[in-house]
Amino acid sequence: MHPVYPNLFEPLDLGFTQLDNRILMGSMHTGLEDGNHHERLAAYFCERVRGGVGLMVTGGYAPNISGWVKPFAGMLVTSRAARKHKIVTDAVHEEGGKIAMQILHAGRYAYHPLAVAPSKIKSPITPFKPRELSGRGVEKQIGAFVRCAVLAREAGYDGIEVMGSEGYLINEFLVEHTNQRNDKWGGNYANRMRFALEIVQRTREAVGSDFIIIYRLSVIDLIPQGSNWDEVVQLAKGIEKAGATIINSGIGWHEARIPTIATSVPRAAFTWVTEKLKQEVSLPVITSNRINMPDVAEKVLADGHADMVSMARPLLADPEFAIKAKNNRSDEINTCIACNQACLDHTFNSKLSSCLVNPRACHETELNYLTTDKKKRIAVVGAGPAGLSASTVLASRGHIVDLYDAAGEIGGQLNMAKMVPGKEEFFETLRYYNKQLELTGVNLSLNTLVDPSMLSGYDEVIVATGVSPRNPKIPGQDNKRVLSYIDVLRHKAAVGEQVVIIGAGGIGFDVAEFLIHSDASPDVQDSASWLSAWGVADPEDSRGGVVAAKFPKSPRGITLMQRSEGKLGAKLGKTTGWIHRSTLKQAGVAMVGGLSYEEITDAGIKISYNDTNSSAGDETFPADNVVLCAGQVPNRELYDMLVEQLGSNVHLIGGAHEASELDAKRAINQGARLAAKL
Ligand code: FAD
Ligand code: NAP
Ligand code: SF4
Repeated sequence: MHPVYPNLFEPLDLGFTQLDNRILMGSMHTGLEDGNHHERLAAYFCERVRGGVGLMVTGGYAPNISGWVKPFAGMLVTSRAARKHKIVTDAVHEEGGKIAMQILHAGRYAYHPLAVAPSKIKSPITPFKPRELSGRGVEKQIGAFVRCAVLAREAGYDGIEVMGSEGYLINEFLVEHTNQRNDKWGGNYANRMRFALEIVQRTREAVGSDFIIIYRLSVIDLIPQGSNWDEVVQLAKGIEKAGATIINSGIGWHEARIPTIATSVPRAAFTWVTEKLKQEVSLPVITSNRINMPDVAEKVLADGHADMVSMARPLLADPEFAIKAKNNRSDEINTCIACNQACLDHTFNSKLSSCLVNPRACHETELNYLTTDKKKRIAVVGAGPAGLSASTVLASRGHIVDLYDAAGEIGGQLNMAKMVPGKEEFFETLRYYNKQLELTGVNLSLNTLVDPSMLSGYDEVIVATGVSPRNPKIPGQDNKRVLSYIDVLRHKAAVGEQVVIIGAGGIGFDVAEFLIHSDASPDVQDSASWLSAWGVADPEDSRGGVVAAKFPKSPRGITLMQRSEGKLGAKLGKTTGWIHRSTLKQAGVAMVGGLSYEEITDAGIKISYNDTNSSAGDETFPADNVVLCAGQVPNRELYDMLVEQLGSNVHLIGGAHEASELDAKRAINQGARLAAKL
């Protein structure tokens, strides 16, 4: 029995096969599933097998063209293609791992005109109206699922996962919201769930008894017209009877307006729904969503919420998650901060996935930190994410690294980010880097403002001095009621009841999020408060598990401003921007754009509207405080001085290199890539 995580490291006996532990790497779309990247996928999965994961699930493969998520997405329809998958499955098996292939039919969520669905009803999140399947068409889709599963077995997979949740095709058959048929596939619930049951039953008949079938079942739809609890239970029992090996939990349809995996969702916020289901079935159930550290996973299992825990993004962030936990090195885990910035946001922008905290994720064949045969003395100035990433990679490769920072702690701006309610996971990133500095032997000097005279004798110098706030040059900005985001977030300046925030980029939104909370506000990391704020209810009491949201109102009157026209926060993350906008709106934050700042006075801030046809004219917004969040400019003085002295041996990374559209993803990636080369 494992002394710290006895439940997590207990093997799971599935009868015909055994899993080493209770950790499932859940399915993630990486962008490598298009049939041309089997070697890269093999390297990606093998690294995670060596890291000790019990079972992995691939990204979704469509069973036919209509099931593509987008044109030319991954699909498995021929034996020829199955043979190519052997590159992946053979490599995984050689390392001693187990892997299942996910079969995903996008239904009406398909981003192409060949989309099909139970009924001709367009989804709110895709532009294509699906074609309604005929009775024969439904049979053909079932046949396609079965064929795909047989091919997956032929390809050497240990099993499949049938994607039955998140609002994709199978899920669409289950609820009247998307299924308005009146044949044997629609109408009463027995008819609506027939499609799911037939797929599982016929697949089991075709693949035999010694093949894992995971069914991903939507335990809480999070849409008002979703399944009720009786239906969820009926389906689960039917799926068990039809021959599934394991039920995995799906949380929320993609069109749901409730966050399910973003960083502001408290850890393990949804495992209670899996627990409800676990009491109704006898096959193993998996829970998921925002489980990102071993102690969280262990607690979920110890509390009896599930038999196994699915962690997808945490294994992008750290392929060695399981082995570190097993060897009592949990403090070395590079924790997924649930930002979606390099994984899901990339998928939705048709870019290859990676990870903000681990740029090697999905790039295992091209970004490697090899031991150097030419040991150098290297100085890194600035211990923000760019400098931390560069220095730890350099030291891990065998270089002698001195890291300097003017501040008394590492992390640079992440020390402000971590103060924003809902972004506490940045504490983990800083814990990880502190540990890495120690393990790799970087010589860290804090409280050390570096000037060029301190940098002689180094073979290379890396300047990662970050950014300074942009001066917006607004008349009257020296008024004592004007603060910067640094005053508010770092120095905890007192902020009055009426606030105007200048600038509505990532930092303006974060400052607003910080200011809508007071000491009396509910704890954002408390699941019960969070679920109530977003209107998540027990699906036994309310269809789909949704009721009216109850966001606490802001204790301050806040107005967020930008000069440009258009939606405020338009450039925030593709999959998370709507959450920030929605939170602020519900808290009562006003958002105003299309204006010029005229003057800050004791009365507040005077603006004029850009639209000359508007009758609004000038307007003064009263403000106890005006907070400047008007962007940033690079800190390059040190670099400019050094480059004259040292020439090509000086390197510039992170915000010091380019402040525009800078984020920690770019800073860490740039630091790691430079460090891999030197
Ligand atoms: P910095 O983090 O600015 O670090 C530079 C370091 O250099 C500092 O520690 C400074 O003390 C040191 N330094 C400067 N000059 C010297 C010198 N002469 N001698 C010694 N030391 C020196 N990004 C995201 O990706 N996701 C987010 O959710 C996110 N949220 C944010 C929220 C807030 C409130 C803020 C302020 C930023 C946020 N960011 C976020 C942005 C992210 O923090 C920055 O992009 C990132 O920190 C830039 O990294 P950097 O290493 O280039 O610079
Ligand atoms: P930003 O996103 O570039 O936003 C700057 C804001 O200031 C804009 O709203 C801009 O709008 C305004 N502005 C620009 N010049 C101005 C001027 N001269 N006078 C007045 N207003 C001006 O930058 P940021 O908010 O400072 O964030 C810095 C970086 O950190 C960003 O690149 C961001 O991606 C990153 N970050 C990311 C996150 C995240 O969650 N991913 C969170 C925080 C920060 P107008 O020009 O229309 O006025
Ligand atoms: Fe987690 Fe962010 Fe990495 Fe995605 S990019 S795996 S959410 S840390």
